[in-house]
Amino acid sequence: MINQAAIDAFKAGLRGALIDPQSPDYNAARKVYNGMIDRRPRLIARCADVADVIAAVGFAREHKLLLAVRGGGHNAGGLGVCDDGLVIDLSPIKYVRVDPKKKTIVAGGGCLWGDVDHAGHAFGLAVPSGIISTTGVAGLTLGGGIGHLTRRCGLTIDNLLAVDMVLADGRFVTASAKENPDLFWAVRGGGGNFGVVTAFTFKAHDVHTNYAGPTLYPLEDAAEILRWYSKFIVKAPNELNGFFAFMTVPPGPPFPAPLHLKKMCAVVWCYSGPLKKAEQVFKPIRAFKKPALDLVGPIPHPALQSMFDGLYPPGHQWYWKADFVRELSDEAIALNVKHGSQLPTMQSTMHLYPIDGAAARAKNSATPWSYRDAKWAQVMVGVDPDPAKKDVISAWARDYWTALHPYSAGGAYVNFMMEEGEDRVRATYGKNYVRLAKIKKRYDPSNLFRVNQNIKPK
Ligand SMILES: Cc1cc2nc3c(=O)[nH]c(=O)nc-3n(C[C@H](O)[C@H](O)[C@H](O)COP(=O)(O)OP(=O)(O)OC[C@H]3O[C@@H](n4cnc5c(N)ncnc54)[C@H](O)[C@@H]3O)c2cc1C
Repeated sequence: MINQAAIDAFKAGLRGALIDPQSPDYNAARKVYNGMIDRRPRLIARCADVADVIAAVGFAREHKLLLAVRGGGHNAGGLGVCDDGLVIDLSPIKYVRVDPKKKTIVAGGGCLWGDVDHAGHAFGLAVPSGIISTTGVAGLTLGGGIGHLTRRCGLTIDNLLAVDMVLADGRFVTASAKENPDLFWAVRGGGGNFGVVTAFTFKAHDVHTNYAGPTLYPLEDAAEILRWYSKFIVKAPNELNGFFAFMTVPPGPPFPAPLHLKKMCAVVWCYSGPLKKAEQVFKPIRAFKKPALDLVGPIPHPALQSMFDGLYPPGHQWYWKADFVRELSDEAIALNVKHGSQLPTMQSTMHLYPIDGAAARAKNSATPWSYRDAKWAQVMVGVDPDPAKKDVISAWARDYWTALHPYSAGGAYVNFMMEEGEDRVRATYGKNYVRLAKIKKRYDPSNLFRVNQNIKPK
């Protein structure tokens, strides 16, 4: 029990709000994106600035409270919220500063990717991120960051220049290649294990209008498409990205009525090179097989980045399973087709995200991201708005993963994992785990930051 006087003093010192179970907005404030997560924190500190973050970290440390840190609240396992402890909610720390001359973008720790896409687009600049604009900049970046620009620009962490952080002992530091380089190494994939990041500085790229969108194919052709796609994408120019998906066609525009609610397979393309070359780049794709639907065309970057937002509003039930994949053998393709054809609900899906091209330039030891030699990050996600479907979607994702895991590289992208225990975290960081554990000991010896894919201090 924390005494009320201590809570009152903490609250009085904050510029942002302190929410407790008696606050009228408590239930809204404790919700995260995944409707399956239902946790009841003791306190939620909506931090308005770095001073609030320092105070909140200090309060958790002093009162030995379990501490969760929330950026965009998108984490599959609900790692932005905890039971009984304190949540540091960074959502008020939302600002973006674009430097068009240096081509850098600074984003506050509570930004969503839509904030960065919007601000950068005015200058024809973008930072490689994910495929949904409501995802938090913080969690996605700290875990790695895969999206439409991965093959051209690398992972999000490959474009991270510096972070401002509040450490477990309350110190405020900058980490970059020059300052605290060990910490800078660790945050580029090591998640929220090392402190609270209050600002990110990114290198930005010239990206304005992409030639992008999905091509859809009949499910009966899935094995042929997968075989072709897996050989094609790894040889394609880096400006071309394309992730493979099993999907159910949503029942509305821009999809034609005869395809509505049909299970199909697709590749979601993004060519971010010069538009005048785009048709040429797509020639072999269109020559290979005429898609049942071809929605690829010029699209402004923020529109592409938010293309799936409507399909995936907050509050649905989500169950994730993931792995890294080095190659797609015929047996693996057959199993993918078997399980991918059994999508249990309209929003459930399987994505194979390419992580070759620019993302494969760095060595496995360059950052904690330990699978630079893998070709894809695979994720099976059971999704549905109805809580009654929770078991069905979870079982489908688990069965799919169980069948394919023997063909995988071993670990998974941390941002595509639920809470799956220490062995999975170790498998994910591979040889980098020991170095991460040492840095963790240096910066967070008491494991204050443990509501995450946890690296134990050693
Ligand atoms: C619909 C959807 C689509 C997605 N698409 C992609 C995609 O295309 N590419 C991709 O790479 N990932 C994708 N993801 C996964 C996403 O990267 C993770 O869910 C990520 O954890 C989300 O970050 P967040 O800040 O929103 O999450 P949160 O739940 O707020 O936090 C996630 C983790 O990061 C830590 N954390 C958050 N903020 C901070 C901070 N400021 N300082 C320190 N630690 C912090 C938290 O403690 C927690 O452990 C997607 C997720 C969803 C739900």
